[in-house]
Amino acid sequence: MSEPLPRFLCDVMLARFARYLRAAGYDAALAANTAADRDILRQATEEGRWLLTVDRKIQEHKAALGRLVLLPHASLDGQARELQEHFAMDWTGHAFSRCILDNAPLEALKDAEMGQVPEDVRHSGEPLMRCPGCGRVYWRGSHYRRMMGRLRRWQEGVWL
Ligand SMILES: [Zn+2]
Repeated sequence: MSEPLPRFLCDVMLARFARYLRAAGYDAALAANTAADRDILRQATEEGRWLLTVDRKIQEHKAALGRLVLLPHASLDGQARELQEHFAMDWTGHAFSRCILDNAPLEALKDAEMGQVPEDVRHSGEPLMRCPGCGRVYWRGSHYRRMMGRLRRWQEGVWL
């Protein structure tokens, strides 16, 4: 068995980056918009997550020690690159195993649910996944190509 993947809690400024973490298969929760710093830190501690934030101030809390990774504001690429300084990130090995919207682990689509999928996709033979949380169906045509392009580039260490 390989090491369990690190789990993350992203602050609201990192909502877009959280979607890429989920696309890469990482458990990445998003902190509530209105949550106070100490509530966010408590959530991270209770759920065993690393807090990813762009907020320098939150570092000053004692509870942040060994629990927080500060990411740059700048760009998705900058954020991914910084995260990789802290964790052995695998951007492609578990890709598309989580819903990018609500973080739920995806399940294989059942035959009875095939009606939700466009006919050309259904006949393409590609793997179809469904989110048990929001019901969204995933296939390689949708968000997959665009997001995968970026994840592959990160995996190769090519940063923009
Ligand atoms: Zn979902």
